[in-house]
Amino acid sequence: MFDSLSDRLGGVFDRLRGRGALTEADVRQAMREVRVALLEADVALPVARDFVEKATEKAIGQNVLRSVTPGQQVVKIVNDALVEMLGGDDAEGATLQLDVAPPAIVMMVGLQGSGKTTTTAKIARRLSKGGGMTGEKPRRVLMASLDVNRPAAQEQLATLGTQVEVATLPIVAGQQPVDIARRAVQAAKLQGFDVLMLDTAGRLHVDSALMDEMRAVADVARPQEILLVVDALTGQDAVNVATNFSEQVPLTGVVLTRMDGDARGGAALSMRAVTGKPIKFAGVGEKLDALEAFQPSRVAGRILG
Ligand code: GDP
Repeated sequence: MFDSLSDRLGGVFDRLRGRGALTEADVRQAMREVRVALLEADVALPVARDFVEKATEKAIGQNVLRSVTPGQQVVKIVNDALVEMLGGDDAEGATLQLDVAPPAIVMMVGLQGSGKTTTTAKIARRLSKGGGMTGEKPRRVLMASLDVNRPAAQEQLATLGTQVEVATLPIVAGQQPVDIARRAVQAAKLQGFDVLMLDTAGRLHVDSALMDEMRAVADVARPQEILLVVDALTGQDAVNVATNFSEQVPLTGVVLTRMDGDARGGAALSMRAVTGKPIKFAGVGEKLDALEAFQPSRVAGRILG
């Protein structure tokens, strides 16, 4: 992931550093090259434009050009802008809003195949083990699948539940999503679970039936967290999906899956800006422990090498 972007930016910055003194024109030229590199990595156009504008302004406005190591300063400015673009300091990272009268409810949304069900189990696993990302106490977690469209979706979650040793809501054949959600909330309350994770149905594309269903479920469950799961490999498409979802449901965060793949990185880089919500986790493999807290400065560091 990010390999070609990293190479391109590396080339731009090597040329800058090699120069010694820099003129304003040198900086503008370098920033134009940064913009092209971002666009080639599938970063959304307005996001790339905004990024380069801000970074250019900083590089020219401050005393960068008169400093002893102007090239170095420009690289630092780009690094800081990248961290900002990815969501700023790492503080927010993988924090979920769970400190409410139990059960805290986490609703997972996204397209079919995005990795939603797997991610539900991964997050449930980490919450139930405690420590790790949140440094928190282990939580009693219940998972429920509201996916009545895809055959065997509910069974898939039950199987994952067994693997990660997290309880799943018993399946009642024929029950509709809103009713399952209601039953899940009731069960979580009565049985003293700390966290309820609702895995909603995906679709192949964003459509109004899906959005209506999500809103109806959210009305009933009143979740503290609504996490959008998007596949980082789908590039610009992931950005469009995120834009659509964030206009329709009050997301609280994003999870990027398949960050272990060789995506060009645009989805990851644009996500924060287009949704306005933090990227909380990154899926980095098929295994159920392959989930990381998303750390902007680490990702920026990897891109700039
Ligand atoms: P859903 O339809 O959105 O619920 O998708 P699933 O959870 O069933 O996942 C679809 C496929 O993607 C499965 O084979 C998962 O193992 C795989 N998958 C999910 N997350 C990741 C990830 O972060 N990395 C990789 N390599 N595969 C993933």
